[in-house]
Amino acid sequence: MRATVLYGAGDIRVENVPDARLIEPTDALVTVSRACICGSDLWPYQLMQPGEPPRRMGHEAIGVVEAVGSGVRTLKAGDVVVMPFAYSDGTCAFCHEGLHTSCVHGGFFGTVELPGAQADALRIPLADGTLFVLPVGADEALMASLLTLSDVMGTGHHAARAAKVGRGRTAAVIGDGAVGLCAVIAARRLGAERIIMMGHHPDRIALAKEFGATDVVKERGEEEEAVARVRALAGGLGVQSVLECVGTDQAMRTAIGIARPGGAVGRVGVPHYEAIPGSEPAFYNNLTIGGGPAPVRAYIQELLPDVLEGKIEPGRVFDRVIGLDAVPDGYRAMNERAAIKVMVKP
Ligand SMILES: [Zn+2]
Repeated sequence: MRATVLYGAGDIRVENVPDARLIEPTDALVTVSRACICGSDLWPYQLMQPGEPPRRMGHEAIGVVEAVGSGVRTLKAGDVVVMPFAYSDGTCAFCHEGLHTSCVHGGFFGTVELPGAQADALRIPLADGTLFVLPVGADEALMASLLTLSDVMGTGHHAARAAKVGRGRTAAVIGDGAVGLCAVIAARRLGAERIIMMGHHPDRIALAKEFGATDVVKERGEEEEAVARVRALAGGLGVQSVLECVGTDQAMRTAIGIARPGGAVGRVGVPHYEAIPGSEPAFYNNLTIGGGPAPVRAYIQELLPDVLEGKIEPGRVFDRVIGLDAVPDGYRAMNERAAIKVMVKP
């Protein structure tokens, strides 16, 4: 079978590898129908250091169960499933608390430890706890939106939850990538009255507005200017809920700068800084800083009905569909911001 392997910064290849197979009794074998390239894949694509082991990429997928191990109870061959970006047993204390990304037996797809989903097929550990069976079979029209339940829509929702978005509140979204755009959907869905999108790519801003952004702040680089603009839009007081969907220290400084005293920052961009900046203003403004890897497995149940009913259309973030052999071009396109999010159809 074919799989995507990252060898070094900018060096991504599609190769023939040994077929994925069942190893543990709790495994399922899944044929990938749809996968994605994620903004977080771009971090190792840009920064992988010489000497790091090759890595089989991809952590988002919809697929069809081909086979299950003898210990699998809830899945059978032919089931159409969503694969969350983390695997989890569904039974430990953290899974019961809805925090599947902290599962005591869990881990992440597309790492050195576990091959990823930008491939023809992959092995799913702890399949009963990890996979979510879709009730729709292979409904083509809904596939793109269902695929976002693997990661970006659940992650945007997590940002909104961590930022305490609620009815009538003011929210700001930092980052106009796929997660930021899904965060706009999530903020609107949870009742935010005003949603300020901070971003500067015209196509993404247009989509953000269709998703429910009420205001756009395009200033970039000029951090103070952007902060002042957002604060002015929020009546001079700052915004109650900040959804930080980037992961740089500058994005975090901006988040803390625009938050209203007593407000909350939900961060879901993988942080690329050691210490959270803005400690002093965050303290004096009584800010809550929350967030982390989204327990998307827990959120599928909540978000799925809205996708099935067409109330939300997060699948619109996909603006390019490619075959598996074109995955290196897909990385380049996303890295150059020529594509918002790339869907891979092996
Ligand atoms: Zn668990």
